[in-house]
Amino acid sequence: MGLFIILLVCVIGQVMNGPLPPSIQIKFPGLTKLAGGEETWSPNLRGAPSSITNINPDSDIPMMEGDILIHPRGRSAINCVSCLWPKSADGTVLIPYNLSSGYSQQQVSLFQNSLQEFHTLTCIRFVPRTTEKDFISILSTGGICASFIGRIGGEQQVYLDSGSCMSRGTIQHELEHNVGFFHEQSRSDRDDFVTIMTQFISPDKIGNFDKMDTNNVGLEYDYGSVMHYPGNAFSNTSGQATIVPKPNPSIPIGQRIGLSPLDVSKINRLYQCDDSGLLLNSANGTVTSANYPSTYPNNSTSVWLIRTPSGQVSLQFIAFDVQFSTDCVSDYIKIFDGPSEASPVLLDRTCGMGLIPQLISSTSQMLIEFVSDTSITATGFKATYTAVQCGGAFYAPGKNFTSPGYPAAYSPNMNCIWKITAPAGYKISLTLHDFMMESAPNCKYDSLSIYDGADTSSVLMVKYCGTKSARTFNSTGNAQITVYILSCVRAPNSLFISFIKGF
Ligand SMILES: [Zn+2]
Repeated sequence: MGLFIILLVCVIGQVMNGPLPPSIQIKFPGLTKLAGGEETWSPNLRGAPSSITNINPDSDIPMMEGDILIHPRGRSAINCVSCLWPKSADGTVLIPYNLSSGYSQQQVSLFQNSLQEFHTLTCIRFVPRTTEKDFISILSTGGICASFIGRIGGEQQVYLDSGSCMSRGTIQHELEHNVGFFHEQSRSDRDDFVTIMTQFISPDKIGNFDKMDTNNVGLEYDYGSVMHYPGNAFSNTSGQATIVPKPNPSIPIGQRIGLSPLDVSKINRLYQCDDSGLLLNSANGTVTSANYPSTYPNNSTSVWLIRTPSGQVSLQFIAFDVQFSTDCVSDYIKIFDGPSEASPVLLDRTCGMGLIPQLISSTSQMLIEFVSDTSITATGFKATYTAVQCGGAFYAPGKNFTSPGYPAAYSPNMNCIWKITAPAGYKISLTLHDFMMESAPNCKYDSLSIYDGADTSSVLMVKYCGTKSARTFNSTGNAQITVYILSCVRAPNSLFISFIKGF
């Protein structure tokens, strides 16, 4: 089996000209490091996508609607104010939790990642329980995914089986039950939006499709809710749907990628919280500052969480004009490689005027924060985002990256771009550790190209295929390097690239 490894080692020396216009002030994360240590570029978080209704069909634990635990006292849910969690003086709603020790480290990370989306976008805060009387207890066993609705008082179990429930969408689905929500297709007005095909539902399962007296918080029915059943839920006839959207039966339902924008709005509406952040969950779209292209408001903080359905987020600025201040202490944009302000920084506080280089997150989530102070505004920014299946944009020294899935073989039809940017006054040195791709005349099938500049229109330094030994490439006066990998259907091999750069 073919395998190739590229090692890129970068050492940065001083050059006279930086790649960025001097009027824009960009802070690069990691710049204070004296020398770059090595870090491994992490692959995307992966969950175990699953249908809750397929996991729970034969559980002995009393449940309604497939995964809702029945409280012995019996009660209705979100139409019941005492079933909500109390709001703190600071406007947040704390839900204390205990997490079973039965999860792997990767599952704990996925769980935390799932909580962070609530924290970024709503006033809900899941906090580790200390001494609180009312709390949720998250259990890794039981073979089911199941929850109560809202707060029931005391300890309440949330079943998130470690073997079958640990995807972000399923975790968020169960947590949203705890926040206070039934399934979307249980809404009091659901008959206007879906048809329940009772002829394909066994009598002992029909209760899962009961319509509830829900509080719909004045927001519309959401086919894209993470709380909606899939079309084939509890079907007793292969190929026959039990829930059919109307009037268009092909509207997708039952996604478990994660919270939808309306899920977020409904949580904030239920708890009477401000919309603290905007979720963008399409494969591509546009982000602009408020009022763009007019001036953005003073004294405001805006947050956008981009979460593409798959792949990684690539963000390209089209315009950027933000009040300049030394160290960007007044107005600024800041961008994170993940769902929260605790995620690694992709772009530190940036202000001024000019174009920010393309940014690519390492996962499907990217967080944009835009802050203005009490005086002086400008037109702000406009950027477009799109999901990409591989690649990256690095602004800090000491990074490694590999072809997707390394050391497994790379995929056919892969187009990856990695962009490496150093601050003004530095250049980049990149070392290919080891390299092997399918060989062909003129590298016409698979290839790796390195450009001495910001994009693939820059000067081509090298185009590689076949097997190559280690080699170092240095940028010239321009402190950007673009690495572009193209593979086609015939690609049989895998690729590893890493680079280290030190300032
Ligand atoms: Zn459910």
